[in-house]
Amino acid sequence: MADIHANMAALSAVLDDIKRRGGVEQVWCLGDIVGYGPDPLQCIEIMRRLSDVCVAGNHDRAATGRLNMAEFNPEAAYACRWTAEQLKGEDIAFLDSLPEVAARQDFTLVHGSPRQPVWEYLLSISGARENFSHFSTRFCLFGHTHVPSIFRRTEGGGCSFSPFSPNIGLALGQSRMIINPGSVGQPRDGDPRASYAILDDRVRMLRLYRVAYDISLTQAKMVKQNLPVKLVSRLSRGV
Ligand code: ZN
Repeated sequence: MADIHANMAALSAVLDDIKRRGGVEQVWCLGDIVGYGPDPLQCIEIMRRLSDVCVAGNHDRAATGRLNMAEFNPEAAYACRWTAEQLKGEDIAFLDSLPEVAARQDFTLVHGSPRQPVWEYLLSISGARENFSHFSTRFCLFGHTHVPSIFRRTEGGGCSFSPFSPNIGLALGQSRMIINPGSVGQPRDGDPRASYAILDDRVRMLRLYRVAYDISLTQAKMVKQNLPVKLVSRLSRGV
């Protein structure tokens, strides 16, 4: 899962969905546990307990002061300052302990990209193509764009793009891929439902799921904390 963004209602719905599907052996987190949303402490607590591996996102780094907020837009910066005020010592220590890159099986895990793990947005085929030489495993999982995506290495050093559609299994074969499972807490592909993926390593298949959650509950908490209206309203639209 990626980009939980302190959205407890979305995270709970995803965890319930995983349980309903029979559970998983490990939880891999692709960063941005906090930022934007109203529940940073709860989300940190749960991911500290549940995740087997978690890489750092730009919001995780900015919330503890290890990354400058200069490149954040005003709403993100406001939410980041609010998040920083909520964090206690142990939360800061946990976020600061997260590595920028991790590897599990034949997957490299990053928040942004293999080339720039915390900051680069992988939105284009050309950007993705350049990144295949920056990791050595067959596959890479990333977040940051909040858009479920598949970049596939093609013959002769090319690259193709396809959206990562829900419920259809993505076969993990010979070709290298850079894959985004979408965002749990702030989807931006026009579908407001929480997004995550399950890897079934017996059949070498990665499957994306979308889960409806109580968006209004998260929005009410954001309004109560005076978080920016723009961040509140985008959750309903999934943008
Ligand atoms: Zn994010």
